[in-house]
Amino acid sequence: MNKALPKKVEKVLELLKKDLGDNLKIDIVERVLYEKDATAIPIETKTPQAVIFPTNKKQVQKIVEILYNEDIPMIPRGAGSCLTGGAVGLRGDEVVISFEKMNKFKIDLDNATVVAQPGVITYELQKAVEKHGLFYPPDPSSYKFSTIGGNIAENAGGPRCVKYGVTRDYVLGLEGVIKYGQTFKFGAPVMKDVAGYDFTKFLVGSEGTLGIITEAILRLIPLPKERRVLLAFFDRLEDVGRAVTKIMTSGVFPSALEFMDKACIKAVNEYKNLGLPEDKVGLLLIELDGHPLAVEQELLEVSEMLKNMGVSIQLAHTKEEEEKLWAARRALGPAISKLGTGKVNEDIVVPRSRLAEYIPAVEKLAKKYELICAIFGHIGDGNLHVNFMFDKSNPQEVEKVEKAVEELFKLTVDFGGSITGEHGVGITKKPFLKLQLGDVGIELVKGVKKLFDPKNLFNPGKVVDV
Ligand SMILES: Cc1cc2nc3c(=O)[nH]c(=O)nc-3n(C[C@H](O)[C@H](O)[C@H](O)COP(=O)(O)OP(=O)(O)OC[C@H]3O[C@@H](n4cnc5c(N)ncnc54)[C@H](O)[C@@H]3O)c2cc1C
Repeated sequence: MNKALPKKVEKVLELLKKDLGDNLKIDIVERVLYEKDATAIPIETKTPQAVIFPTNKKQVQKIVEILYNEDIPMIPRGAGSCLTGGAVGLRGDEVVISFEKMNKFKIDLDNATVVAQPGVITYELQKAVEKHGLFYPPDPSSYKFSTIGGNIAENAGGPRCVKYGVTRDYVLGLEGVIKYGQTFKFGAPVMKDVAGYDFTKFLVGSEGTLGIITEAILRLIPLPKERRVLLAFFDRLEDVGRAVTKIMTSGVFPSALEFMDKACIKAVNEYKNLGLPEDKVGLLLIELDGHPLAVEQELLEVSEMLKNMGVSIQLAHTKEEEEKLWAARRALGPAISKLGTGKVNEDIVVPRSRLAEYIPAVEKLAKKYELICAIFGHIGDGNLHVNFMFDKSNPQEVEKVEKAVEELFKLTVDFGGSITGEHGVGITKKPFLKLQLGDVGIELVKGVKKLFDPKNLFNPGKVVDV
């Protein structure tokens, strides 16, 4: 055992080790690996006391029971791809519970559901169900490495959510552990369930602060037979908002409606050598899916609609071309990272009808603070990634970004929107949650937290301070 550990923690870990053996790590090298997540904003993190890799839900129950009774805080962890500091320790007395080894799932074809352990990689589940003609739509750009548990805890979303909804819309049931090791089981593999308050949906998006999810029942839907992708290039930003409204009210329901501004087009060209027109102010990536005949017809309708607006279009003719366009969209994060040594990526949401005013207002804000700004995202559901680039070695630039972010959130709330559509509150957005929820909202959040976790031991310091 590592002698640097506090006596009390050491005693508790000795006890757990009897059951867990090699699945409990206290070596400093192992612990340091679990200190950070993918958050870009610098956070003062602390190395956890131990990292535990449970292999089944019984073990998780035992671990939580022991740690909770001994007042040792816990950080549940999936792949550590959180962008708001949700998977990191702030105090130094935490134990990380990593779900890497709980990565099994079972498909129920008759009920079109799947029962998944929290450590399942989302992409692996998607590929497996697709072999049976079934579809699990939630598609965060991190889907190739993030986990079902992390996606549920953050209520993750992605491009397809405009048509198919977010993770919450696919969670039918949850099992897990809360205070003192009490286990819960909410929901069932059924489409209708109104027995009492809907704790299943409520726990989705709780960011590991209320308890630990050990199993999920997920809903599957039929896999669309065809997918086609179209690009539309714009000379005026106002036309982007108009085009989005037109498409979304035309009777055609795109499976993705993604936006990139001028800075993003340039960055992605440089990163992937795509040859997209850099004289345009922005582009829309539009994906349509469904029955092949319907998709063909809808493609024609959307193309005509855009041409009538004076917008130029480009159709992907082959699956390779489509994949190339999607690869460009998914590469936007790293592509724009090259525009500065530091980047903040805020995932705000505003009502679609206000996008035409909102985007220029953000550009004005960036100009005011003399920051490079790149905007892209899921414009079809009003969810945009606003990126401010800065020189992170320059304290004045860091200060400017902090002020710009605060103003961005105020602007977003004034526009009737949300400070986060995907990444959650974690640590980085905690100071701004009150802007959106108000005093009463914050009190309710704290009340719920106390009910599930009276000792503040599940992911402490995230979402709200209690
Ligand atoms: C390149 C990149 C692209 C991204 N794109 C998107 C995107 O398009 N859309 C989007 O929504 N997000 C995106 N993200 C953010 C991130 O991938 C998601 O929030 C994802 O859901 C986190 O999953 P994870 O497995 O990495 O969880 P982690 O980062 O390990 O944890 C996230 C949170 O979940 C909690 N948690 C994890 N497992 C459990 C559990 N079993 N029980 C209770 N709580 C748990 C953790 O405590 C933490 O608070 C992106 C991140 C990166 C790095």
